[in-house]
Amino acid sequence: MSQQELLTVEGLSVTYYGPPDVEAVHEASFDVRRGEIFGLAGESGCGKTTLIAALTRLLPDNGAVTAGRIMFAGADWLKLPPSEVDAWRWRKISLVSQSAMNSLNPVISVGEQIVDAILAHQPQTSKREAWDRARALLRMVEVDPKHVHSYAHELSGGMRQRAMIAMALALEPDLVVMDEPTTALDVVVQAQIIHQVRTLQEQLGFSVIFVTHDMSLLLSIADRIAIMYAGEIVEVGSRERLNREAAHPYTRGLIESFPSVFERKSRVGIPGAPPSMVTPPPGCRFHLRCPARLTMCDTVVPEERVLDAAGHRVRCHLYDSVEAIGQNGRN
Ligand code: SF4
Repeated sequence: MSQQELLTVEGLSVTYYGPPDVEAVHEASFDVRRGEIFGLAGESGCGKTTLIAALTRLLPDNGAVTAGRIMFAGADWLKLPPSEVDAWRWRKISLVSQSAMNSLNPVISVGEQIVDAILAHQPQTSKREAWDRARALLRMVEVDPKHVHSYAHELSGGMRQRAMIAMALALEPDLVVMDEPTTALDVVVQAQIIHQVRTLQEQLGFSVIFVTHDMSLLLSIADRIAIMYAGEIVEVGSRERLNREAAHPYTRGLIESFPSVFERKSRVGIPGAPPSMVTPPPGCRFHLRCPARLTMCDTVVPEERVLDAAGHRVRCHLYDSVEAIGQNGRN
């Protein structure tokens, strides 16, 4: 792990115990660098939320990490005892979830919730300082500080989400995980909040993991992006390279499924649906939907290949050696 990397995930697998048992994440590897926005994209049910739950140590009781490790801020994160994880929460890692209405406590004012988080982690702070900080945080996310005494139901959807972002930043964490933070909002509010996240991130220097199914959104804000399909990370690369020449057929399909913010183009969907995670298909998990499928794809699991010096990685037989592709031919 270099100085540049804040988080390194190596071969992470997560299973939910049933019956049936479901391996929702299979051997995921990637890193998040200091001060970058790292996007995580894929269709619903591809494992994004499970991966985030593992990263934030918030897996439900029937879920467990079965393989791999996570290094975070120099610590072997999965081995830290729960008391230490609690101490790191908000201070080093915080979460903005999809629905602020469900995440904010409905019977405590927004300000009290921010103050509680500050005082719990920084007990040396006076109450007055904590309330001043709560007002300043709301101002920072462009919510009128008078709302420090408002309850969640008194705020609009956009204001609630901004208040969640203010809470997430209250203790200046190194990493803010944003799980579909703008999905429930209309496009105008969504654009304002995205712009604000980018501005705050540039000012304060924290890293962001931004989870969404919306590729066009990630291509406008993320520095690097990982693509998940059926529990696996199938491609990781810079926004520029993914925008210019996405390598994996699934990534190309995702990009073509969303309207571009850069150009006028017709939308093309990906035929079919993601497979059941109870019995994922053999070989490449995408082979039943892939327009570039090779014979070998039905049975042989593709290995990850590094495509350039910047570390662009893809898991697809199209990037095996020329000999391998020549031997098997296209369907
Ligand atoms: Fe398509 Fe084969 Fe690549 Fe899978 S490995 S994405 S099926 S070409």
